[in-house]
Amino acid sequence: MGTSYMRVLLVEDDERIVNFVQRGLKAEGYAVEVARSGLEGITLGTEGKFQVIILDIGLPDLNGRQVCERLRDNGINTPILMLTARDTVQDKVTGLRAGADDYMTKPFAFEELLARIEVLMRRGGGEIKLEIKEFRIADLILNGETHEVMRGETLIDLTPKEFALLECFMRMPGKVLSRTRILEQVWGYSADPLTNVVDVYIRQLRRKIDDDFDIKLLKTVRGFGYKLDAS
Ligand code: CA
Repeated sequence: MGTSYMRVLLVEDDERIVNFVQRGLKAEGYAVEVARSGLEGITLGTEGKFQVIILDIGLPDLNGRQVCERLRDNGINTPILMLTARDTVQDKVTGLRAGADDYMTKPFAFEELLARIEVLMRRGGGEIKLEIKEFRIADLILNGETHEVMRGETLIDLTPKEFALLECFMRMPGKVLSRTRILEQVWGYSADPLTNVVDVYIRQLRRKIDDDFDIKLLKTVRGFGYKLDAS
């Protein structure tokens, strides 16, 4: 399994913690997306594409417990690790009641965070398998379990990054994705925004999934980004 499939959502407004966690996780091969408010956390978390959600209890709008409850109400089973500044039994109990899977007190050592994430990912393994399934647009099929990509009867050989890029489009058919969004999702948040790596990979992906076929699926939307659709 390529590193690009380990996606973590960090819901936290404290920039120091965001930087600390993001840098550390990225170095470990995780792709990290950041939500800086509770509502943004609910929106991103409900996309269901993360293996773990790290959720701070103190957020500018909703608190972490409310975010957790809303995610569970939305049917999201992603393991949630809650962060809090206070180490009280009451905090822990209410956090776990809201549907969190684990709990950590700030300040924490990065190694501990990493160990807890690994445990949660292992525990959540069964559910992740159900989440990652087959995506289809026209005659293009991406299988998240076997990592096979087919266009009609043709098996298409993709690198792990090309696969992650295609998966990103197939999860949101017809939706225009900006370079920045693609960069964040496939390469992680702290990728250099000036890099042309997205364009390079789009060209490579196009060559493999579109060049030999009459109907082109991967389209450029001038001034906005790219989308994948059959129309
Ligand atoms: Ca906070």
